Amino acid sequence: MTKFDVERVRADFPILQQEVNGHPLVYLDNAATTQKPEAVIQAIADYYRHDNSNVHRGAHALSDRATEKFEGARTKVAAFINAPSSAQVLWTRGTTEGINMVAATWGRQNLKAGDRVLVSALEHHSNIVPWQMIAGAVGATVEAIPVDGDGTLNLTEFRQMLDPRVKMVSLQHVSNALGTIHPIDDVIAMAHAVGAKVLIDGAQAISHWAVDVQALDCDFYAFSAHKLFGPTGLGVLYGKRELLDAMPPYQGGGEMIETVSFAGTTFNQLPYKFEAGTPDIAGAVGLGAAIDYLNALDRRGASAHEHALLKYAEDKARAMPGITLVGTSPYKTSVMSFMVDGAHPADVGTILDQQGVAVRTGNHCAQPIMDQYGIPGTVRASFSFYNTFADVDRLFAALTKAQQFLL
Ligand code: PLP
Repeated sequence: MTKFDVERVRADFPILQQEVNGHPLVYLDNAATTQKPEAVIQAIADYYRHDNSNVHRGAHALSDRATEKFEGARTKVAAFINAPSSAQVLWTRGTTEGINMVAATWGRQNLKAGDRVLVSALEHHSNIVPWQMIAGAVGATVEAIPVDGDGTLNLTEFRQMLDPRVKMVSLQHVSNALGTIHPIDDVIAMAHAVGAKVLIDGAQAISHWAVDVQALDCDFYAFSAHKLFGPTGLGVLYGKRELLDAMPPYQGGGEMIETVSFAGTTFNQLPYKFEAGTPDIAGAVGLGAAIDYLNALDRRGASAHEHALLKYAEDKARAMPGITLVGTSPYKTSVMSFMVDGAHPADVGTILDQQGVAVRTGNHCAQPIMDQYGIPGTVRASFSFYNTFADVDRLFAALTKAQQFLL
């Protein structure tokens, strides 16, 4: 169906070459975390074998090498998202920490009683709760931009919600629960027109296509390394320089200071002002290797393949009695959320697992949208470029068995 050579790519991912519960693994939980190519595993192992040391402070060769690899990874990330400078690429523990960091620092400095923060009704909890915490502390409000029944953001209602009291619009680029791709170009322009800042939660978008933070003109962009074929425990927060410069530090400790004295402490320059303590050096090295891997991949072909997988799966779902798709926006990527009529999603997930098919079930950390739809959760199959059409066939064969067993 596409020219993308999926079999060659699959060979790069050792974890996929295994059996689970007596069946060859079909991994369809890529929205939760992506698998790691051998090059990433190797880069992390090599770092610990040969270069392990602390960064920025060593007077010895290992520390120099570790620093070079660590800062080299930051430069790779900056180029990957087209940030103007690697000083605007901050290491975090993940998307969640990136959003918390902005809420706790920018929010603490800029939000006051009566101000409004807008998020979508479809957000991941990590893009709701940090804003509720800071809003509660300063007397601001957090309001949900309505989402239609098919999972599309309602831009008409968004336009009506905008006024000068809106100080922040914090929106996912792609929904983890339904796969909707949001019209963030429009959202960013509309939010800026009333003077609001915009944070984009890129956790689900970053693995699917090239993100250009300057073209988007977003104020902040957060993502997690583990959803980009890199290691867990590491993330990236990009920010516009003038905003990051003006923001107070997030945590105090080593590295983030210039001078420390009981008479008064001064803070380091960007990006170190936001990086207290020993960072996840091996994680950064691993993410750098993941970016190298992606840069060598036919990314357009990969995206087209993912899109073809989604279409193939959704066509099959529509043709299969007793399956109800949840989230049918025409603007979607790589996520098929659905219900097996009459069965609880968790039971379906268990039966799929018994057949070697890994999916996620539940509310996908997006409880408000599940409440809006009046469902406890969904079964979610999420695709990456290393999935095959045969994987989709296995999913549907397993679903047929689940229906026979449960209904
Ligand atoms: N935002 C979205 C849209 C996500 O899908 C996720 C993870 O599933 C997160 C935020 C949180 O990412 P992390 O747990 O890596 O911090």
